[in-house]
Order: sequence, then structure tokens, then C-alpha cells
Amino acid sequence: MGNVLVTGGAGYIGSHACKVLKAAGYTPVTYDNLCTGWREAVRFGPFEQGCLTDRARLDQVFAAYRPRAVMHFAALSQVGESMRAPGLYWHNNLAGSLCLLEAAVAAGCLDLVFSSTCATYGDQDNVLLDETCAQRPVNAYGASKRATEDMLRDFGAAHGLRHVIFRYFNVAGADPEAELGEFHQPETHLVPLVLDAIAGRREALTIFGTDYDTPDGTCIRDYVHVMDLAEAHLRGLRWLEAGRGSRGFNLGTGHGFSVREVIAAAEAVTGARVPVVFGPRRPGDCTRLVSGSARAREELGWTPARSTLREMIADAWRWHEAGHYTR
Ligand code: UDP
Repeated sequence: MGNVLVTGGAGYIGSHACKVLKAAGYTPVTYDNLCTGWREAVRFGPFEQGCLTDRARLDQVFAAYRPRAVMHFAALSQVGESMRAPGLYWHNNLAGSLCLLEAAVAAGCLDLVFSSTCATYGDQDNVLLDETCAQRPVNAYGASKRATEDMLRDFGAAHGLRHVIFRYFNVAGADPEAELGEFHQPETHLVPLVLDAIAGRREALTIFGTDYDTPDGTCIRDYVHVMDLAEAHLRGLRWLEAGRGSRGFNLGTGHGFSVREVIAAAEAVTGARVPVVFGPRRPGDCTRLVSGSARAREELGWTPARSTLREMIADAWRWHEAGHYTR
């Protein structure tokens, strides 16, 4: 069925997308600089090491594989880091994406699926965020993604680049066969940190704020299983192949869970207590981020069937116990 160039294919979400692409008959070609990705996570097709900003290397890879489409996952993705070092984000996420888009257009590869984020909506507490909400990012990470979305639209109008934009909410879980999982260094995400605390890899989980305006005082997020997310990318690719044109979709379930609810679910799944300490609010955290998810369901026919807390945590836990990637 042809090659698909997957930037960031060695990362958490990109590697799961490669697995789903391979199962659907495509050959995922991973392009990754391994700055946050893992060589061991590249299991489903060829690997080409390189940076997004290296145009000569990109041209070489486009010429060698003649991909029918690009899935663009490669990015830095930590909100806190983006506030401390915005240049890294503008360079890697925006300048890198610009270089990729120019290489894709030059190679005549005009279908692209892009990983964006609910962080492009900014701080709009207590509304259900659907695709019609204004995008007003409040951190450099969200801003770099929002700017890349704008760039895609301009390249669409000028060069015929067709794109599907996915704005992710909170991604969790792992491949149920435990070949792949979530492993960041340092880890900042709630589910792996909860599991680390259960496994004794860290002393305790710090709950960032218990005074939010929510039923139990902790922040609410919309968690999506990484395999559901990967499945949505396959549907996005098919959408483009069917000539349905450029479109943006939120990927969330429409249901929010608090930090305390995630902890309770992890305790139910593992049968162990999560050692917890209470800390102050984390700067930049919104009270509640929940997706309006009708568009992806109705137009892509996407159902986030695995995205229950229980299943996400059970799959993440299985991978967690099986081991981690090593450099
Ligand atoms: N959180 C927490 N303790 C941690 C890490 C995260 O209480 O050690 C909370 C965080 O404040 C947020 C939720 O868990 O409300 C999800 O955070 P995460 O970093 O996983 O994703 P984000 O929502 O920032 O994209």
C-alpha cells in the first residue's frame, strides 16, 4: 500500500501509529533524531535518523522512499520547558515543520497528517472545547503548534498541500501487547508518574493543587488511549487518500476525569496504594480541559473504544512492568 513517512516515529505516539500503519498494510518509514525518541520503539519499518531542520537529509529520504503521505509527530511537547526555553520550541516545532513542508512539497508528497494539541485553545476553563473554539494558546508549546497549523493552511492554498490536523487531549495507555509504551526522561505525565509511585520508582506522586473549582478540587482532563489515537491517524490518512480535503479534528472522548479519579482507577487496576503528597498548583495548568468530540466521531467514524481509565491504566501498567527502553 506504500510508504508513509512518520516523523517522530520513535516517540510515544508516533511508534504506536507505526504499529497501526503496519497492521493496515502500509510501510511506516520513521524519521527521528532520537533526541526524545527511542531506537527500540522503531519496529515496524525502516529507520532514518535525522533532524527536521536538515533539508538535505529530508530530500534524500523523500527521494529514497517516495512516501505517499507524511505523518508529522516529531516535536518537543513539554509546556513547562516551552516557557523556560521558547526558542527550542520555535526552532524545533515551527522551523522544523517549515523545512518538512517545503521538502514534502518539493517531492510532490501532498498529503500530511499533523499532530497538534488542545494547548492551541489556551485557557478556556469550563467550556467543552470543540473545533469552533478560538485558538488562543497561553504557552510557547501551544503557540508553536498553532503557528504550524497556520502554515499548513497557507501551504494548502499556495501549493495544494492537503492536511488533517489532530488536536490531542491527554494521551495515555500503551500498546496492549506491551511492545511499546510511554517513557519520557524526565517524566512529567500523570499516568506514568502514578505507576512509578506504585512501583516504588519514586517516593510519592505530588498532586498539583487541590483547590480547583471541581467536585474534588483537582484538575480535570480528557484522557484518550494511545491506540485509539493511532487508529484516528489511520482514518485521517484514508480521509486524505479519499480526497476529502483538509480538516481539523479534536481527539478526546468528551469525558473528563480528575487527578484523584485517575489515582483511584490506578489503585483499582493494580490493587496497590498510590503514595500521595499534596503540592501547590503547577503554573500553566487549566482547571478543566475536555474535548467536544462529535466531529471526529461523525466525520471520521472514529470511536475511542479503548479509552476507559481502567483500560488505559491496565495497558500502561502491563508495559510498565515489562520494562523500559534504554539508550
Ligand atoms: N499532575 C499532578 N501531578 C503530577 C503530574 C500531573 O497532579 O506529578 C496533574 C496536572 O496538574 C494535570 C493532570 O495531572 O492536572 C495531567 O497532567 P499531565 O502533565 O499528564 O498532562 P497535561 O494536562 O499537562 O497535558
